[in-house]
Amino acid sequence: SEILDFFKQEYDIQDISFKTFILPLKVKSFENNVVTLVFTGRSGSASLQYINKKYFDFLQISISVVLEEDIELQIVLPGDDEEKKVSSIPAVNDEDLVLEKRIHEAHLDSKYTFDSFVVGNNAAAQVTSLAVADSPGEVYNPLFIYGGVGLGKTHLLQSIGNYILKQDKKAKVLYTDTESFTNEVIDLLRAKQTSQEEIIEFRNKYRNVDVLLIDDIQFISKKDRTQEEIFNIFNNLFLKHKQIVITSDRRPEEIEDIADRLKSRFQQGLTVDMQSPDYETRMAILRKHAESKGYILTDDKDDTFSVNFLKALDYIATHFVSNVRELEGSLNNVIAFSKINNDSEITAEFAAETLKVENKENKITCDYIINIVAEHFQISPADICSKKKSKEIAYPRQVCMYLCRVYTDEKLSTIAAALKKNNHATVSFGYEKIKNEIEEDDNVRNMIDVLKKKINPN
Ligand code: ADP
Ligand code: MG
Repeated sequence: SEILDFFKQEYDIQDISFKTFILPLKVKSFENNVVTLVFTGRSGSASLQYINKKYFDFLQISISVVLEEDIELQIVLPGDDEEKKVSSIPAVNDEDLVLEKRIHEAHLDSKYTFDSFVVGNNAAAQVTSLAVADSPGEVYNPLFIYGGVGLGKTHLLQSIGNYILKQDKKAKVLYTDTESFTNEVIDLLRAKQTSQEEIIEFRNKYRNVDVLLIDDIQFISKKDRTQEEIFNIFNNLFLKHKQIVITSDRRPEEIEDIADRLKSRFQQGLTVDMQSPDYETRMAILRKHAESKGYILTDDKDDTFSVNFLKALDYIATHFVSNVRELEGSLNNVIAFSKINNDSEITAEFAAETLKVENKENKITCDYIINIVAEHFQISPADICSKKKSKEIAYPRQVCMYLCRVYTDEKLSTIAAALKKNNHATVSFGYEKIKNEIEEDDNVRNMIDVLKKKINPN
């Protein structure tokens, strides 16, 4: 258990991977400097392959450190009595090349992994994605991930694909975004003489996979032929227990103009949402991003470089709150600006200066406020921006109007546009209404205070 503690401390491993891959390792023997572990967990050989690839070196080092002697490690499966050495190092280069090729063919980007994803307040989406990646087709099918712009949907979706490709040498994964898929369908239809073979080829491409990842399905709205193709592909894969993962900026039931039969397919598995990152998550993402760019940060109070750098990150995390893409973009700007200024030191002041130069100060946006309010009232951002008039939705919408006026310098017409309203007088009305209620009703004032804290914790 000392080894486990050490491993967990030193290796940045997600809890679920730890439970899945590391905890089930039991010591079988320790003779002549050879430590033999036996893997007692699920899907033995696949897991073992994965452990060997990913954790082997680090396990070996951890054990050596804790035992204070150089050991040789081997990991076996329960039945492996002759203890054949499964841990012999594979011809890494070839294997890496093959993997790279498969990633490319799957239309994936290898930078999107569970390891590079900061879980923070998105545990629900992360855990379900990892579960699906671990047992494709067996747990949630389809997995439907929804959430606002730049919150990490594509990142998680692609992580699932990359994880599976790495874990299973034979798995066929295909990623597509709904826009390219739609374009393919349109091209097929537009071509004067699309042969039957071409259509079949197109369908087979999507049917002959073990895992289909479809990004931004909301773009399917109003596109009948695309919907029909997706519907057929979906059914075909589903019947074969092949995994389907879908992302969207809204819940299935909120995608407008799609066939009911498709909607109900999307709802058939599990639907999880993604949240705007809270302050701690924003800090963690920034820190990881900085570290991935080669900055070494410590929590040592005497390490002035880190202290200043972390203050710069704090500045960014406080001012850029709406989405992760923006957050990372801001940090990139600060880093780039430091480089062109003879590596000038990165501090909160420097970050403030840079980001002012970029004219991106004051970055609480209408979209961000809408996300926060939606979360608070447990409805979706899409609802707030819909035409629905019921009180459960109209009221939060007015709260948004109020908060957008208070927190952004946007014109009424811009706020109206963010809320998908044509008439900016509505915004004015909503603002005044809530403002009066705050003065007259303690409950409303408290609710607004809670929201204000969520929008800007400092
Ligand atoms: P979406 O598809 O929801 O619009 P993306 O997945 O494209 O958002 O994320 C935007 C950027 O932010 C990407 O570079 C992604 O890697 C990064 N990102 C988002 N969420 C996280 C997270 N929790 N941890 C690390 N990086 C993240
Ligand atoms: Mg995306």
